[in-house]
Amino acid sequence: MNNGVYTDNHVLGVAYKNTSAALFGKKLHDNSGGIGQPGRTKLVATVAEHEMGHLLGLVNLGSPMQTGHQDTAHGSHCSNSNCLMYYASETSDIFGFLITGSIPAFDANCRADLRANGGQ
Ligand SMILES: [Zn+2]
Ligand SMILES: [Zn+2]
Repeated sequence: MNNGVYTDNHVLGVAYKNTSAALFGKKLHDNSGGIGQPGRTKLVATVAEHEMGHLLGLVNLGSPMQTGHQDTAHGSHCSNSNCLMYYASETSDIFGFLITGSIPAFDANCRADLRANGGQ
């Protein structure tokens, strides 16, 4: 377990090797609920569900890919920009999208991986 200070200002949450996930409360608090910012509930729910996806093995993080859809340039993330597991879901890049959009869902490829892994 890495107990070091996480220094990337864009990262709102991080999953540690399938064992636990951390949400950075203050960061989420500072970036939601204000004018021009997404609602706090929506933002927290999105990041929490995204981290849950990592804990469940997405993408290619313990759950074997049924179809190749890993965004290898961004680690264990989905290549579909409309998917909850797209890398931007855990960075501040999601803010603009969430102001008008709804919480992203797992796309077909990610759902297939979860099913194959014994998930939902
Ligand atoms: Zn992620
Ligand atoms: Zn996906």
